[in-house]
This record gives sequence, structure tokens and C-alpha cells, in this order.
Amino acid sequence: MSDSARPPVRLRADVLAVPAYRQGATPTKPGFKLSSNENPFPPLPGVLDAIAGRTDIHRYAAAAMPDLRAAIAAEFETSIDHVHLGAGSVAILFHLVQAAAGSGDEVVFAWPSFEAYPSLGLASGAINVPVPLTDRAEHDLDAMADAITERTRVILLCTPNNPTGPTIRRDAFERFMQRVPADTLVVLDEAYREFVTDPDAVRGEEALGRYSNLVVLRTFSKAYGLAALRVGYGVGDPAILAAAASVGIPLSVTGLAETAARASLEPAARAAHAERIAVLVERRDALAAALRSLGLAIPEAQGNFVWIPRSEHVDPVALATAFAEAGTLVRPFAGAGVRISVGEAESVPVVLDIVRGFLAEHIRSDAPGADYTGSR
Ligand SMILES: *Cc1c(COP(=O)(O)O)cnc(C)c1O
Repeated sequence: MSDSARPPVRLRADVLAVPAYRQGATPTKPGFKLSSNENPFPPLPGVLDAIAGRTDIHRYAAAAMPDLRAAIAAEFETSIDHVHLGAGSVAILFHLVQAAAGSGDEVVFAWPSFEAYPSLGLASGAINVPVPLTDRAEHDLDAMADAITERTRVILLCTPNNPTGPTIRRDAFERFMQRVPADTLVVLDEAYREFVTDPDAVRGEEALGRYSNLVVLRTFSKAYGLAALRVGYGVGDPAILAAAASVGIPLSVTGLAETAARASLEPAARAAHAERIAVLVERRDALAAALRSLGLAIPEAQGNFVWIPRSEHVDPVALATAFAEAGTLVRPFAGAGVRISVGEAESVPVVLDIVRGFLAEHIRSDAPGADYTGSR
């Protein structure tokens, strides 16, 4: 930490050791924002009207939000006490880790994965145990099971994995759960569940009934396009969720968020939602296929994003810089790869042009792409 940023009070040394989050560069030209896995569609039909009609914003919302929780519980065929709301599912991740892991305890997760995961252990004083992905950019569940110790309190599974894209398959998940102590919390982070087309992917709804140590996380931010309103949810054992609520910030889910989420689950909104998801999934698959045809080893893409792994010719920061110079924002993971969100239809040819130009510049061989394996 530089001198200019030295705090005037005593703060935790472990917190100060971590560089502050920095948002990506703002492009100088108009272009597409493909850096945060946002939904390119406007809010679903009925949502804006519903929040415009909510005039009681001088009052705190009723914290229990039973109608929204009941709607979610119905989806999961469970009871309302199995549903916990948060100001984004990232808030629930913090609550769960705070509730389960204290000083010296361990939190196991795959890496690279969701960028918020390392700060979870940090916030609760626990030790992060990142486990490298396989060379197919999937969770290495055997290695993750091997990493479990007496001190492991939380295991985070992200499916499909942000930023790389592959899901965890049902059979691999089952084998993994057999190796996890039944008293150790497993969080299945399914922030991109709605975009999954792989029939063999694990599904939270199915797994919940079998494992009382499992909590499933979903969000309205991505597929439902409510990122700015901050509402997500966890589904699992009521006693686990009650402990999470105990360390949560009271009243952080706003009434507007609740209203928007409920409106998003009305029949007309659901129909539009399904259509939009189908469009985005098709766009994703087309984008991934086109990038593969350029010789890039794009892993299975099951979220609303594609991953270009680092390779001999692709330096992630250099590629992201080329994007920013062309006016489009993508998310680089230094030394690992670049994540590109599936955005507007018009963004797809723009992405392909930028990547093509970058590769042409960085591949000196007279047979472009010859060095790539081209496999998934
Ligand atoms: C975006 C995301 C979330 C949560 O987003 P919220 O906006 O906080 O609901 C959680 N997990 C992963 C992997 C994500 O990418």
C-alpha cells in the first residue's frame, strides 16, 4: 500500500495487504460493455411499472419479504424457511462464510473463479484455499476433496464457473459430495443457472434434498437483468440460513428490489425471460464457435460469457487493452485469460473483429492458429 493511502487509524494488517478493488479502464470510444456479465436486455415487462408504483420508500421494507420467498420456495418445491434473501447473492456468500468460518478456519474454492471469493475468507479472518482448475478450465473436484482438512468450514463450488464457463456435472458432484464431511458447508453458486443447456450439469433443486450441508445460491442480477437493484437468494437448511441472517446487515434488501424480483416472476415476465435466455444462449454458442474457428481453445461456455484462455499468442492484459482501445470493455484475469460477456447482437461481430486483429498481430507464423490445439 502506498504512503498516500496509509490509513490514519489502526486497521487489520491482513486487510491492508490486499490491493483495493479497481474497476476496469473506461474505454475512450463508444463501444460495448462486456466486462460484468450483465444482461443486455432492458428490464422484463412489468418490472419498471411495478417499481414506479412503489411509493412507500420513506418506510423500511418488511424484512421477511414472505411473498418473494414463497415464490422462490415454490420453484424449489420447498418451504419458505429454506429461502434467505440478500442484497445480491454475493451478500449471502459473505453471510455464509462469516457464519461458518472464523480465524484459522479454511475456505476451499476453485481458482480462477468468482473474483469475490478471496475476499470472503479475508473478511472473516479465515484462510483461503484456492485449488487450480483443470486444463479444461473445470473444477478439479478430486484436488478440491484432497484439500479438505479438519479446519475446512466452507467449500464454494461455482457452476457454471465464472469466469471460465464449464459446469460441474451431476456425477462428478455426487462423487465429490461423498468425500465431503457431512458437517462441512458446501455452497453451490449457480449465478448463471438459467443459461445452462448441458443436461448433465448438476442442478441445485435436485441436489438440495439429498445433502443437508448444501446451500444453493441464485441471483436476479444476471439472467433477470436486475443487477443494479441487488437481490439474490440462498436455498438450504433453515438453521444454516438463520445463522447467515444473524451476521447479515439488517434490512439490506430494499423494497424496490423485492418488488422488481416479484414482478420478474409474474407469468408475462417469465415468458419474455425464457425468450431472452434462448436468444442469449444461441448468441453465446455462436460466439464460442466463431472464436474456436479462429483457433482459440475456448472451454465449454455455459454461462452468459466466453473465456479466452492465456496462450502463447494471447496475453490476457494485452488482449483486454486491445479491446479497450477499440472501445469495448472485457475482463482480463492476468496470467489466466479474458472473459467476454455475451451482450448485444451487434457486439458479436465487433468482438470477433478485435480478436482477429489481435491474433493477426500476435501470431507471426505463416499458418495462423497452427499452434492452437483447437480442442474445447
Ligand atoms: C455475479 C455473480 C454473483 C452474484 O451477483 P449478485 O449481483 O451479488 O447477485 C455470484 N456468484 C457469481 C459466480 C457471479 O458471477
